[in-house]
Amino acid sequence: MEAKLPAIDASWALFLDRDGVINRRLPGAYVRAWEEFEWLPGAAPAIALLSRAFGWVFVVTNQQGIGKGLMGEPALDSIHRRMLAEVEAAGGRIDGIYFCPALASERPNCRKPGPAMALQARRDFPDIDFRRSLMVGDTLPDMAFGHQLGMFNVLVAAGEEGAELSIRAGKDGIRVGALIGSLAELPAVLGLHG
Ligand SMILES: [Mg+2]
Repeated sequence: MEAKLPAIDASWALFLDRDGVINRRLPGAYVRAWEEFEWLPGAAPAIALLSRAFGWVFVVTNQQGIGKGLMGEPALDSIHRRMLAEVEAAGGRIDGIYFCPALASERPNCRKPGPAMALQARRDFPDIDFRRSLMVGDTLPDMAFGHQLGMFNVLVAAGEEGAELSIRAGKDGIRVGALIGSLAELPAVLGLHG
């Protein structure tokens, strides 16, 4: 897909989905402990490059495993502390991690595609502008979240899955600015260099 992405500077915010973008998604399961958190190749160095270009870097993640009682918030906090430490060790920065523990069946809820996590980020960081924001995710709800907030969208999906999701996004009227196979590709797609 041809990239239709803006030039990034420090007035821009980056919103990253977690599972399937930063770490390997566990099909039908939740990352409940650090031992189950597997970095996707090149993700941490990519976050380091991205965090030098963007003014803010956020993680926005649905974590329904908490609502289901499969894990607790202390376990999630512990995973995120380790993740942050490794991002910092790679020379990167994450300014905020927002998670939604709610069940998909709860109404209303904070889950993507709903805007609650982005709105909380804006309460915490009032200078961010969603029109100067990039959302990176691996699912249609991620893309719907970015689209509804007026962000630029980047879909992370390889091969046939990427092609299929792009077509479905188009049918749903959801703009996707670029399709990449992994977060590791994003710095180069944005013209950022180490
Ligand atoms: Mg995901």
